Amino acid sequence: MAINVDQLLAKVPTGLLIAGEWRDASDGGTFDVENPATGEVIATLASATREDAAAALDAACAVQKDWAGTSARERSNILRRAFDLIQERAEEFATLMTLEMGKPLAESRGEVTYGSEFLRWFSEEAVRDYGRSAPTPEGNLRMLTVRKPVGPCLLITPWNFPLAMGTRKVAPAVAAGCTMVLKPARLTPLTSQYLAQTLIDAGLPAGVLNVVSSASAGDVSEPILADARLRKVSFTGSTPVGRQLMKQAADNVLRTSMELGGNAPFLVFEDADLDDAVAGAMGAKMRNMGEACTAANRFLVHESVAEEFASKFAAKMEELSTGNGLEEGTTCGPLIEAKARKTVAELVEDAVSRGARALTGAEAVEGAGYFYRPTVLVDVPADARVVTEEIFGPVAPIVTFSTEEEAFELANATEYGLASYAYTQDPSRMFRLSDHLEYGLMGFNAGVISNAAAPFGGVKQSGLGREGGAEGLAEYTTVQYIGIKDP
Ligand code: NAD
Repeated sequence: MAINVDQLLAKVPTGLLIAGEWRDASDGGTFDVENPATGEVIATLASATREDAAAALDAACAVQKDWAGTSARERSNILRRAFDLIQERAEEFATLMTLEMGKPLAESRGEVTYGSEFLRWFSEEAVRDYGRSAPTPEGNLRMLTVRKPVGPCLLITPWNFPLAMGTRKVAPAVAAGCTMVLKPARLTPLTSQYLAQTLIDAGLPAGVLNVVSSASAGDVSEPILADARLRKVSFTGSTPVGRQLMKQAADNVLRTSMELGGNAPFLVFEDADLDDAVAGAMGAKMRNMGEACTAANRFLVHESVAEEFASKFAAKMEELSTGNGLEEGTTCGPLIEAKARKTVAELVEDAVSRGARALTGAEAVEGAGYFYRPTVLVDVPADARVVTEEIFGPVAPIVTFSTEEEAFELANATEYGLASYAYTQDPSRMFRLSDHLEYGLMGFNAGVISNAAAPFGGVKQSGLGREGGAEGLAEYTTVQYIGIKDP
């Protein structure tokens, strides 16, 4: 079904959602949203001020008690209706994401499937959020535990997965009975705006979800974090911003969930099926043009298979078609903005200046939009910036190793600990990997492993907390213990 872009954009609310109404910013301010494939402005949105942020939190606090008092079934039904509505609007959501973020339409459709699944999963979890009951070991008390909503939440999302990053937070908050203020990324707010409208259409009561898109993230987050009525902040984004938010959250001793940066190793052992490993590498590296926290950032390959792996990988990268994600046949879209492309180019230049060789790519595409050619680098020293920093682009540096111990050491040589991948046929090596690698997520012989039913999150400076799975709901609840004297 071909979507009329003008008609679609006209359906997306451009205001701030506060207490169930879409309204202008208190100072009338606005900001523009661009299409990164063309550089053109596609929408102009109200830009929330500090006063708007405070009003949004007021609205969330005003309905927290009533909302917490609704039945789990009621909240579950709203999430399920929202899931169904997204299926009806799937092509609209996919087109919006490609327009504002750039990913090829096929990948946007994949994100509609993945992102909407959080609504269905948490609609099912909402009614199964049990407490427990047991006697104390001494037999003098009956212990009951009950789970309660943590309270009003601030949710801050990044630009790279405009739907999934929102649903991964909003769905468990709704399921648990929390109210919330959502601050979408400035670069890709349209999908969140349309998601919020879809939740309203599904019956979410006024004030439960408030949306304050803004050109100035700090103006929104500061007054909300400083307000003692807020009980939780859930953030997905870069580690430096996450650190800063944790410091601000300390003042009110807030619950925090932090989904931060990554530097995923992708290990290929000498016993790997190399064609399989290349297929997995394409998914782990090139999904979202490499703009994913789970993106394979470093390819650590056994020296005996490195040359063959690199040449097969480069051949597959050359088959990709870089262009506007709305066009048929495009398999690699633009980077999000000029600054992102400049950073990627600098990382490649640094590697080449230290002796790396590009088997393919290593150049920006001339003309409108922020395109960079899919790149494979070999002979990369392990201390090159492209290996030690998060690339967030379509660049695959390959580093070789000779022993399993060396591979483990290289894999852990980062402050991050989000995703990791390994290709090997040896089950006992998989267990050794899981014993030794310091990562929250591990994919064995699989390049894409995210799932709404699985706990997603990192260790070390990749963050705190988990999203998805039963763990994702627990993040939005507190446990109350009740001790009753045995009669
Ligand atoms: P970012 O940290 O620049 O921004 C993330 C969000 O925080 C945006 O909404 C932004 O407007 C807001 N923000 C920025 N400065 C702020 C401030 N001072 N106070 C309050 N809010 C502020 O990150 P990004 O560029 O949007 O996203 C890319 C980063 O996100 C990468 O590091 C990536 O690894 C990470 N990421 C992590 C996960 C995960 O689940 N671990 C998922 C996706 C992206």
